[in-house]
Amino acid sequence: MDLKNIKTQELVNKYNFKFTKSLGQNFLVDDSVLDDIIDGAEVNNEDFIIEIGPGVGTLTAQLLMKAKKVTAIELDSDLIPILEKELGDHENFNLIHKDALKVDFNELIGEEKNVKLVANLPYYVTTPIILKLLKDGYKFKSLTIMIQKEVAERINSEPNCKEYGAISVLVQYYCNTSIIRRVAPTSFIPRPKVESIVIKLDRLDKPRVETKDVKFMFELVRAGFNMRRKTLWNATKALNVSKEKSEEAFKKSGIDPKRRAETLSVQEFATLADCIYDVKNND
Ligand code: SAM
Repeated sequence: MDLKNIKTQELVNKYNFKFTKSLGQNFLVDDSVLDDIIDGAEVNNEDFIIEIGPGVGTLTAQLLMKAKKVTAIELDSDLIPILEKELGDHENFNLIHKDALKVDFNELIGEEKNVKLVANLPYYVTTPIILKLLKDGYKFKSLTIMIQKEVAERINSEPNCKEYGAISVLVQYYCNTSIIRRVAPTSFIPRPKVESIVIKLDRLDKPRVETKDVKFMFELVRAGFNMRRKTLWNATKALNVSKEKSEEAFKKSGIDPKRRAETLSVQEFATLADCIYDVKNND
């Protein structure tokens, strides 16, 4: 099929496709959003694009016209024959029938250099997918993803904002974040109940801050935000450090234990984590 003629509603009708709500199937029907995703991701003919959840292939077709190679990962077995039929004769297209959460992206990426992830993500797995893609250390240059508005705002948020939370710190530890555009429910079939945002995560060459044990830093971040309304002093009790050691660590860090997690920058989390880590390991 000519890539320019791939239209969501027509394909849904042609194949009498039945949407599965539990798979987060809200397909894009708005060309301006497709254009903004492609422009936002700065897709060019040297890029190897990985797309999660191609649906009937509307965004995939746009990617195929611009990129060197596109690999799409789709879980729904009903969509596989449609994608094969519509896009299968394009040499730069590769389709994987699998749960994206189970994919080893290092194997997929191999020696490729300009690897970008572009996706209109299924909302029910947005956070686990983002965390997997960032934490597993895959060599993505950027992730340009459409996600639920509230999650995007949390990811993009700064300290002292009500949206600032564990996911803001975890993502900003690895990436610069920028919001590309908002997308209304009317841009999809079927229409989701919530608004969406296209956000770009540009992976930093090295993490934003240095820390002795990143796993421990993220434990501290989680403990802090699990008890959002409590002081750091109370929140860090979950980390099994004695009162004396905790006092010593806070003193060394220069961070007031009466502060709350939502006021700490990524650097301050790293500083505090390192000080607690030191006192813990000097037992
Ligand atoms: N890209 C299409 C578009 O923009 O119109 C469809 C996006 S739709 C929001 C999400 C897609 O992800 C669906 O095609 C759905 O079947 C697929 N999907 C859901 N869970 C998945 C998973 N765990 N791994 C891979 N694909 C998944």
